[in-house]
Amino acid sequence: MQVKVIFLGTGTSQGIPVIGCKCATCTSEDLRDKRFRTSCLVIIDDVYILIDTSPDLRMQMLVNKIPRIDAIIFTHEHNDHTAGLDDVRPYNFMQKSHIPAFGEARIISDIERRFSYIFDHDPYPGAPRINLYEINEDDPFYIKNVEIVPIRVIHGSLPILGFRFGDFAYLTDVKTLPQQSMEKLGGVQHLVLNALRYEEHYSHINVNEAIDIAQALDAKKTYFTHMSHKVPKHEIFGTQLPEGIFPAYDGLVLEI
Ligand SMILES: [Zn+2]
Ligand SMILES: [Zn+2]
Ligand SMILES: [Zn+2]
Repeated sequence: MQVKVIFLGTGTSQGIPVIGCKCATCTSEDLRDKRFRTSCLVIIDDVYILIDTSPDLRMQMLVNKIPRIDAIIFTHEHNDHTAGLDDVRPYNFMQKSHIPAFGEARIISDIERRFSYIFDHDPYPGAPRINLYEINEDDPFYIKNVEIVPIRVIHGSLPILGFRFGDFAYLTDVKTLPQQSMEKLGGVQHLVLNALRYEEHYSHINVNEAIDIAQALDAKKTYFTHMSHKVPKHEIFGTQLPEGIFPAYDGLVLEI
C-alpha cells in the first residue's frame, strides 16, 4: 500500500496568524508558521481522500495544486472541519460526478442542516454535489479498494472519529482516547496527532499530553497538527520535542 499524506492545514480554529495578533508566532516570516485550519489529503494507491473540509479549503487546494477528490471523510462537525464544503464545486465540474462524503450519523445530520441547499430535493444547478454515507466506530469502510478503520476519539465531551489507513493514523481534536482505541492503534508507524499549546484545554490535548500519547503508541514518527499561535515558532518548537515527534506544517508531504 502506497500512502502519501499532504498536510493542507495544521492550525487550530482561528488559523495562524490570528487576525490582529502581534505575537512572535503570528508575526513570524517563516512560511511554516502560516497555518490554515486543520485538514489533510491522504492519497492511497491513487485514491484521493480528503479529511475534513476546512474554511480554507479553496486556498489549500490552489496552493497544493490538488487535481481531484475521490471522497471526503469527516472527523466531526465543528466549523473549522466542515465550513469549506461548498468549495468542492470545481471538483464536481471537473470530475462530472457527485463526491461521496462519509461521517457518523450526527455529523451527517449537521452537514444536511448547515448546507441544506445542497440536499434540497431540487438543488440549484451550481450547488455542490455530495452523496452522504453513514459510518460508525465499529465497522471499517472502503473507498474504492482502500480500507479505513474508524477510531473513537473523545473531544471534550463530544465523541468524534480519527482514521487508520494501514500503518498510518490521523487523529485530530483529541482530548482523550479510550483504551479500546489505543488497542486499535497498536502497531501504527506514522501518526498525526493534535497538539494545541502547552497550557491545558478542556477539549484538546496540550503538547505534553500529545507527547504522552505518541510515546504510549510508540509510532516511528508522530506529526503534530491543529496547533494554536501559543506554540512557539516552528523552528523553535521542533527543537523542544522528543526524538521522532515533529510539528507538521502546511504543505508538508509524507511518503509512507
Ligand atoms: Zn498570535
Ligand atoms: Zn473540534
Ligand atoms: Zn478543530
